[in-house]
Amino acid sequence: MYEVAQAGLIAASYRDIPPFPVIAPESVDDAVAAMADAEGPVPYAGGTDLCGAVREGKPIGTLVWLKRLGELRGVYVDGGALSIGALTTHAEGAVAGATTAIPGLAEAWSKLGKMRIRLSGTAGGNLMARHTRYEMSILLTVLGGTAHFASADGVAALTPAEIWDRAEPPRSLLTRLSIPLATGLRLDYDRSLRPLMTQALALWRDGGGKARGRTVIATEYLPPVALDLDLSGSEAKGIAAAAFEALPADFADPASGNGWLCRAGAAVLARQLARQEAARA
Ligand SMILES: Cc1cc2nc3c(=O)[nH]c(=O)nc-3n(C[C@H](O)[C@H](O)[C@H](O)COP(=O)(O)OP(=O)(O)OC[C@H]3O[C@@H](n4cnc5c(N)ncnc54)[C@H](O)[C@@H]3O)c2cc1C
Repeated sequence: MYEVAQAGLIAASYRDIPPFPVIAPESVDDAVAAMADAEGPVPYAGGTDLCGAVREGKPIGTLVWLKRLGELRGVYVDGGALSIGALTTHAEGAVAGATTAIPGLAEAWSKLGKMRIRLSGTAGGNLMARHTRYEMSILLTVLGGTAHFASADGVAALTPAEIWDRAEPPRSLLTRLSIPLATGLRLDYDRSLRPLMTQALALWRDGGGKARGRTVIATEYLPPVALDLDLSGSEAKGIAAAAFEALPADFADPASGNGWLCRAGAAVLARQLARQEAARA
């Protein structure tokens, strides 16, 4: 909103946005070289978040149109890891054959937003928009994945937590997400309490064959927190309650306090563990 003499408060529209140059690189190398020199470069992936952000005042120095970067598309298994191109849309990722390498991932990915959003919104844009209600960070965190960036200074791999901390190199491009394919890795995703909370569970076996697990909880306002599970007990409720004892005391938001999130998180986790156990039986 801005105020105009004699007219009062006027809502901002696209016509208020100052003009800016657009560059459309054909390769990642060209993109990072252009981003190193351009004034205020802002990548455009699907535009689903960016267009709204610009209308709310996000400045654009130079728009970097990513859609010609075929290198950033697609999902494949590469050297023991699932590799997801940053420009892969949610719709493409959810039906990609390689996504089935992690049971439960395709179903979880198919739930992100409505179809109109899933057709344009990308894995990379979801992470880089850094909205707590967006879910790719939850999925990447629970699966122990990393995000790979390229800039004129080289490449860097960041955890999702480091992305929340804005630790990526300046003027860099998120190129791919990488998830190590541990033995028996599978995902259980629970959105039943959204928008209050969303919770993911990953189970796998380590090199010694020992059962491992991690749960991740996030809310509308709080970025994901990961809790490692002690799976030596056999009772789902006990495992879940013990895990949530480690939930940080400051993990609380205006919609739900820490106590409620601990109780709800443990209840959801017990249900997820039981569901996975039943699926294996
Ligand atoms: C109405 C609506 C409902 C939604 N519902 C959900 C939901 O339920 N669950 C969910 O998880 N998500 C949801 N989303 C988010 C959606 O799934 C998209 O992932 C998200 O909007 C961004 O994707 P995009 O590809 O369009 O990114 P853009 O809008 O193009 O970009 C978003 C930001 O990321 C930056 N960026 C994009 N790509 C890169 C890159 N490769 N490297 C560096 N920076 C980059 C851009 O500069 C921009 O700052 C919703 C979005 C909308 C608008």
